[in-house]
Amino acid sequence: MRTGCVRRVFDLTGTVQGVGFRPALYRLAREAGLRGWIRNRSGSVRICLSGKPSAIDLFMQTLPAQLPPNAGLAAVAEVVNCPSHAADRGEFSILDSEADTAPDVVIPADLAVCADCAREVLDPADRRFGYPFTTCTRCGPRYTVVNGMPYDRSRTTLSSFPLCADCRAEYENPADRRFHAEAIACPECGPSLLLLDREGNPAAGNPLRESRRVLSAGGIVAVRGIGGFLLACDATNRAAVAQLRHRKHRPHKPLAVMARSMEVVRRVCIATPECEELLLSPAGPIVIMSLRERHRNGTAASLLSPDSDTLGVMLPTSPLHLLLFEPLPGDPAPRFDILVMTSGNRGGEPICTANEEAVDRLRGIADAFLCHNREINLRNDDSLCVIRSGNPQVWRRARGYSPAPLETARPLGRCVLAMGAEMKNAVALGYGRKVVLSPHVGDLETPEAHDALARVCRELPSFLSRTPQAVAVDLHPDMHSTVLGRLIAEQAGLPVEEVQHHHAHAAAALAEHGLDSGLCLAFDGTGLGPDGTVWGAEMLLVENTACRRLATFAPAPLPGGDAAVRAPARQAIARCWAAGITPGPELLRILGISDEQAGIWKLQCERAINAPLTHAAGRVFDAAAALTGLAPRETTYDGQAAVRMETAAGRATGRAASLPFKSLNIHGLLMVDWAETFVRIVEAAKVGRPVEETALGLHHAVADAAVAMVEYTLSLTPHRAVALSGGVFMNRILNTLLAARLGRLGVDLLLHRLTPPNDGCIAFGQAVTAGWRSG
Ligand SMILES: [Zn+2]
Ligand SMILES: [Zn+2]
Repeated sequence: MRTGCVRRVFDLTGTVQGVGFRPALYRLAREAGLRGWIRNRSGSVRICLSGKPSAIDLFMQTLPAQLPPNAGLAAVAEVVNCPSHAADRGEFSILDSEADTAPDVVIPADLAVCADCAREVLDPADRRFGYPFTTCTRCGPRYTVVNGMPYDRSRTTLSSFPLCADCRAEYENPADRRFHAEAIACPECGPSLLLLDREGNPAAGNPLRESRRVLSAGGIVAVRGIGGFLLACDATNRAAVAQLRHRKHRPHKPLAVMARSMEVVRRVCIATPECEELLLSPAGPIVIMSLRERHRNGTAASLLSPDSDTLGVMLPTSPLHLLLFEPLPGDPAPRFDILVMTSGNRGGEPICTANEEAVDRLRGIADAFLCHNREINLRNDDSLCVIRSGNPQVWRRARGYSPAPLETARPLGRCVLAMGAEMKNAVALGYGRKVVLSPHVGDLETPEAHDALARVCRELPSFLSRTPQAVAVDLHPDMHSTVLGRLIAEQAGLPVEEVQHHHAHAAAALAEHGLDSGLCLAFDGTGLGPDGTVWGAEMLLVENTACRRLATFAPAPLPGGDAAVRAPARQAIARCWAAGITPGPELLRILGISDEQAGIWKLQCERAINAPLTHAAGRVFDAAAALTGLAPRETTYDGQAAVRMETAAGRATGRAASLPFKSLNIHGLLMVDWAETFVRIVEAAKVGRPVEETALGLHHAVADAAVAMVEYTLSLTPHRAVALSGGVFMNRILNTLLAARLGRLGVDLLLHRLTPPNDGCIAFGQAVTAGWRSG
């Protein structure tokens, strides 16, 4: 050993794999004149540094400020007993990964195409010109292509593509942006495109050019993206969009689009700086923004989102997407500005990932299939975000976000597999101070969705090298996620932990803010309460793992159960019955129902025949939407009636007065009674008052009711912050009205940021609650 030199070894954890971490540290170590090595371990990176003690200290001190973009250092631990290695004192080098069982695996998230790769793909002089699988250490697939950990090319679906000499040179050159870029590829050695016709047979011609031709002719192309298939068509072509809606049996639900550039986004939407930053972030989510005035009401853009004045937009997230927009030389099809890019699935099914699967399941929808042979091991939808109170809020947590771990307020007592809810399902694995929330699985309505859920339950623990010690499920015994969770627990001999739906909402919303106790308003559409009624407008006090309800909405019957959720007119009749209103011919006309129907539903309410009671806030919006004529006869997607109410409220001109409601204290439980509100709504409908005014009045009333619930709670507890959870709080107007009122009361509002306010957060809340119950 040279005099005065020492050898020190450190384990670095955090986001340290799949983000160009080792190459960056390699360069830094060499610049600092240090010897030694760096290598990936399972979940951490180990670095051995040999040199002067002062040089090593300086290196470690300045390291956090010199990390590559997207990397993050969570912890640095010095390893005192690391066995010596031949490379300890050689020129600093990158050693092969060590497949050990180190405890802290982090699966890297997929990253949207970076500016450098985007430039190369469109540069005729570059060797990757027109190449759709261009990636580097700063971008490209990660989670979706891994077969195992640690993250390394040999454990990705790219392992079947041996590197050509040029790629190998880049991969091994510390000065190159692709130094140890595990998903590196080029036209010589990497994956390639394949076009299939509508029957799934190989189609002639250049796959990209042919796909663009189909798109420009108004056709629909299934495009294999990063985490699965998307269905694309020209969003400016009304006939094409209508055709896609028709074939997908999706008449109203919003369709997400991809815009060629930020300039195009700005033309169509009101893109705030916060929206733009989110669109350009490495996660590259779909961002929901307000449409510009001229694109509302009947224009092509409004066809994309007919029920609202907003549009979900993303920028191209992979080179393949970029190349779909831009004609390369010799391509007569025009440059596209906006393409619909909606999930490549049939209703209720997960998005397709494999080529044959897409042909099989999207037959009859797509006119062509733009496929490739870079296999997708793990499905990952596009993430969906909005800006709320100036900060991003995730509505669908998937590509780019998942499976990055969420930190918890305090360590969990055991490793928990949490099964999530029935709708917008995601599962979670919690251990130590981490919860890894799986990418969005979706609604558990089809056998395909059930298979997808079972697969995630197997693979998440396996990738993370963790064995669950308990399984957390919802109280509702019939949810598929509950049924599967109980089966998994039984087979593995594990305890089952039940967590009530809104308790899970509250725990998730609080845990995001580093809290294990606090207040939460949980407003949503459904969720079984411990008393057997449907909850969904709850003021909950969470104290560690206990949960107490302090306020709620008075229950209303749902004549026909789930049928009443799909047909809001049934709920309207139930509210009329509760308020003592006899619907006259005028009201029946607005509701689009006969006297007989109204009579039957009223009888169901009176005699409690198949008319379960619900407290849910979402149902107040449903019934009001029906009574104002805004609701469809049968809703075609979850929350549709409420979305129309929000849109109408947003279009109200002038100030609408809040509608009245009553609050009653029933044995210490505050109950908001809506009977009087519905009397006013019916009166307004009779005299033909603008529905926009009524809609805004109802929003004010729900915000006022929420404030009444908060004020009551403040008198009982010392808490001065309230979390908002549940799908109803996806409503922008309600959020804004409530934030202003609570601000005046001096109450801090805790909003979901990294997990969705809807049921996508349930598994997170289940995991922390069940984890904390032991210990
Ligand atoms: Zn790149
Ligand atoms: Zn190559």
